[in-house]
Amino acid sequence: MTNRKNFIKTTTLASAAILLSAFKSKADKIDPKKITGKPIVISTWDFGLQANEAAWQVLKDNGRALDSVEAGVKITEADPTNQSVGYGGRPDRDGRVTLDACIMDEFFNIGSVACLEHIMHPISVARLVMEKTPHVMLVGDGALQFALNNGFMKENLLTDESQREWKDWLTESQYNPVINIENHDTIGMLAMDASGNLSGACTTSGLAYKMHGRVGDSPIIGAGLYVDNEIGAATATGIGEEVIRIVGSHLVVELMRQGKSPQKACEEAVLRIVKLINLRKKDLKDYQVGFLALNIKGETGAYSIQKGFNYAKYNADGNKLFDAESFVK
Ligand code: ASP
Repeated sequence: MTNRKNFIKTTTLASAAILLSAFKSKADKIDPKKITGKPIVISTWDFGLQANEAAWQVLKDNGRALDSVEAGVKITEADPTNQSVGYGGRPDRDGRVTLDACIMDEFFNIGSVACLEHIMHPISVARLVMEKTPHVMLVGDGALQFALNNGFMKENLLTDESQREWKDWLTESQYNPVINIENHDTIGMLAMDASGNLSGACTTSGLAYKMHGRVGDSPIIGAGLYVDNEIGAATATGIGEEVIRIVGSHLVVELMRQGKSPQKACEEAVLRIVKLINLRKKDLKDYQVGFLALNIKGETGAYSIQKGFNYAKYNADGNKLFDAESFVK
């Protein structure tokens, strides 16, 4: 009986503590009205500047972060001069342009497509997967069929320029897939709208001259992109295999949950990748990965293995390009 009494006493006290902490964490939650840094949009690489412009058009009119990131990365997807995303992207080693993309909103809704061919805007197909299907990811022919059934047009995405480069590559490559830190780059975009809600999008043609069917980190929720509306969001660029290995973007968000700033969270994720590259006795100079993060206060962070990673930030101060700090100085 005494034991039972003690048990009831202890569990009652424990429940009270849980209730109190739930109350406390609610009280600690940031009031969106008090966030001064919003709206804001950030995106990877210098082509992010142009993409940010389109995203900002949505944000400045009190639009939703989700609409802004989709509108933003569509600019990069449609740009034939950008050879690492969408139309004009470098093909795989069989000469096929295969695209990866994903999108995530403030309600943990997610949608993704991988190894999608012939569609100019994989990000919009990913959004449709999210909004119109009970699934979260479609790949290859299934993704193409779904896109065509929903009114997307079948197009040739291989530009003359990318085709010529691929043919040159074939003469020397002996058809070996390569990991090259210079011939790829993804657009990852994170936005917080005027209501304080977060969303993200990530889209790429992936590693140039990859094996046909290779999927990188960019369409994988948690690897190439992650959004938690109470904490922050993160996205990645660089060699997808390394990002997947540590589930990079999710890791960055979890590190922010533990109290790290976006900058420190990106640094720690990069350090983890560096550690695993060393553990596997690979040469660090062959690897580039960059993380970009935004927290719910509107603070940002970016960090990469090698020098050269940059990102574009558009907020009330305008649209500007920043160089990220890197592990290798
Ligand atoms: N992360 C992309 C991939 O591995 C490529 C990149 O961002 O450079 O497919």
